[in-house]
Amino acid sequence: MTETFFTPEQQKLVVDAIANAELNTSGEIRVHIESICKEDVLDRAAFMFEKLKMTKTKLRNGVLFYLSVDDHKFAILGDSGINAQVPKNFWNDIKNHVITEFKKNNYASGLSEGIIMAGEQLKTHFPHEDDDVDELSNEISYGKEMLNDE
Ligand code: CA
Ligand code: CA
Repeated sequence: MTETFFTPEQQKLVVDAIANAELNTSGEIRVHIESICKEDVLDRAAFMFEKLKMTKTKLRNGVLFYLSVDDHKFAILGDSGINAQVPKNFWNDIKNHVITEFKKNNYASGLSEGIIMAGEQLKTHFPHEDDDVDELSNEISYGKEMLNDE
């Protein structure tokens, strides 16, 4: 059950990291967790990106951290507004850091650190604005709930 993958404390750590990262940038970060990814991880992340309506941000600057916990797949996907402005390897350092932490079983802290790093990197291209709106929920999204919503 992916909903119980994190303890309430760990969930709070991740959600707080998103809120804190979004104080640095107008970019909107989300986390999606499910058990198994049966296709290419970037394809699946792109599918979830659409499903979570993450393309609806004004500046097209949503970022999805995707994780399938049983088969250990991970991807970071940014929207077109970000891709138009940043180098191709923009997420590499963050991705490598998060995967290193995952290998030590530090899932919640690894994700949180990656999220904070993403906020800092996005700051240059998409600074936080005074009239910022929280365009996408900071809550973690779980695979099963998404299916039930359909
Ligand atoms: Ca925002
Ligand atoms: Ca948000």
